[in-house]
Amino acid sequence: MSLIDVAKSTLTGLAIADTLKERLSLAFDRASELESQNTSLQKQVAVLDVQVANITIDRDKAQQELKRLQKEHEEETIIHGLLEFRRGKRTSNKWLPFCPVFHAPAGINPQSNRTVVYCIGECSKKPNAGLITYLSQGTTLESLVAKVERMVV
Ligand SMILES: [Zn+2]
Repeated sequence: MSLIDVAKSTLTGLAIADTLKERLSLAFDRASELESQNTSLQKQVAVLDVQVANITIDRDKAQQELKRLQKEHEEETIIHGLLEFRRGKRTSNKWLPFCPVFHAPAGINPQSNRTVVYCIGECSKKPNAGLITYLSQGTTLESLVAKVERMVV
């Protein structure tokens, strides 16, 4: 038996004015509505609590995955001659050139008078076909990497 039911049964036996009975009746109706709303809101809160718990679990899993991937992709980075050089697990711990803008691997295209270094990532879709820089004649990937290695030591 709810609190409202107790109040109703208590007041039923009392001799009170009709106006007061009417006002009490309206108040009981409003109280019933509020109890109903309260019940509905409690159910919604329970559903939201479950959603929050699931989201928290998903977030924790995502954070663990992020940490694992960060550790797996840990790299040293050096900028040299407009190129980004990276060394880590995905480069077999060797220094390799990358695009300094989007960090995609860089391609090397030796030509007769110079070497073209280009981005193989998003930049390649641009009008300049991903050109990062030109290397002067005689400069090779190996000589660039050797310079970077001397910079690290
Ligand atoms: Zn790029």
